[in-house]
Amino acid sequence: MSEPRKLLKGETGDWEVVIGLEVHAQVASKSKLFSGASAEYGAGPNENVSLVDAAMPGMLPVINKFCVEQAVKTGLGLNAKINCWSRFDRKNYFYPDLPQGYQISQYKDPIVGEGEVEVEVDGEEIRVGVERLHLEQDAGKSIHDLSPKESYVDLNRSGVALMEIVSRPDMRSADEAAAYFSKLRTILRYLGTCDGNMEEGSMRADVNVSVRRPGEPLGTRTETKNINSIRYVKQAVEYEARRQIEVLERGGKIDQETRLFNVATGETRTMRSKEDAHDYRYFPDPDLLPLELDPDWVESIKAGLPELPDAKKHRFMRDYGLSLYDAAVLSQDRAKADYFETVAGGRDGKLAANWVTTELFGALNKSGKEIAESPISAAQLGKLIDLIADDTISGRIAKDVFAIMFETGGDPERIVEERGLKQVTDTGAIEAAIDAIIAANPDQVAQVKEKPKTFGWFVGQVMKSTGGKANPQAVNEILKKKLGVE
Ligand code: ADP
Ligand code: MG
Repeated sequence: MSEPRKLLKGETGDWEVVIGLEVHAQVASKSKLFSGASAEYGAGPNENVSLVDAAMPGMLPVINKFCVEQAVKTGLGLNAKINCWSRFDRKNYFYPDLPQGYQISQYKDPIVGEGEVEVEVDGEEIRVGVERLHLEQDAGKSIHDLSPKESYVDLNRSGVALMEIVSRPDMRSADEAAAYFSKLRTILRYLGTCDGNMEEGSMRADVNVSVRRPGEPLGTRTETKNINSIRYVKQAVEYEARRQIEVLERGGKIDQETRLFNVATGETRTMRSKEDAHDYRYFPDPDLLPLELDPDWVESIKAGLPELPDAKKHRFMRDYGLSLYDAAVLSQDRAKADYFETVAGGRDGKLAANWVTTELFGALNKSGKEIAESPISAAQLGKLIDLIADDTISGRIAKDVFAIMFETGGDPERIVEERGLKQVTDTGAIEAAIDAIIAANPDQVAQVKEKPKTFGWFVGQVMKSTGGKANPQAVNEILKKKLGVE
């Protein structure tokens, strides 16, 4: 058996946390899965409801081909098997926001089978298995108005297409679960099959957590429902793992149950004991034919896929010599990746990655800007790097120029020209500055041979007196000669 990747300490020894996620991703489709009603976010209550979505007697569902195509694309993006024969089932339960009395979902025969996702955590790569992806309808929403005590039902979401992506229980820490959720969003956004806007509910996760002693079989899990942010996924896992460890160490047992997450406290609490699949009385929906896909159609979708984040990540490592960490950060979204490639084109890739991830992303973060709003274009940042490479400016001055560019925009060459920031490579001028400093500091000159460390002080003085513009290499060489040190 392989060693556990991560362990948590309890009072009575180590525990391994095991996590599996069920992610609901709303298909980026204008209309719903089985009706022509709009799936747009933000409409007034019950504005986007067709007779099918309201489950009027006799109305029949008609499958939306665009949604099927998005599910296939997503399956391919998850390196998963596409099932050319799949089927829709009825999942029966009663709820006021579910007028049909059942949800149309896929149970035994989902459209997408097993796949796998690469996830980067702490500069390392782990693999998370995908069990399946199936298509299903969303339900409506109940709104409880406490004063006067009334409840309302909004069916706008009723019938909206969801892809449920079920992972294997392959994650071993809160960080891994959060990184997997984030990676799924990256993949969905690359593909354009889901907009990934969690605040609008486009992506929600049910977080399954259990704990066990290393080497033991899987423990009993709880499922915390409907988590809509990466940070909350992390908090829910941390809380559940701690809670379960405490229960078990006190000699108690874990109930298999469904729990709710409280965003205000970061805690979970019992919602209901978990229902089993047989409680739902699944059966094939008699209103829908099995879904049969033409393998050629699937192939043509595959041929049209964009370069996906993992492929990009590996190419960045291979072609530009980037670390896994930098490659993962830069391939996280298409806009960042494109920006980086423009900067790196024909230049030192690692240097370009450094400027983009450290300086640019740092400055964007600080000012709350997205890459698309960057005041510095990729071409301009590339030029700035060229100015360092051809010794026009030093790396230190380049940071000042960068700050000016970020503040006011503009061309680096012009900024360097206008502000007189060009590096002084004229040895005569550097020599003059050095002579003045040597003349003014006889004590330090006398010391420097015994205390070679004070050499750095001289370098600092020369840089200061030249406004940081002296070529550091030339300063070093001339200083060494004049002070007679090695
Ligand atoms: P259900 O559909 O009833 O919720 P599944 O067996 O399909 O149950 O599993 C749902 C999710 O729970 C999957 O993501 C799976 O990886 C995860 N899971 C299953 N067993 C465990 C466990 N012991 N600990 C943590 N997660 C688990
Ligand atoms: Mg479930």
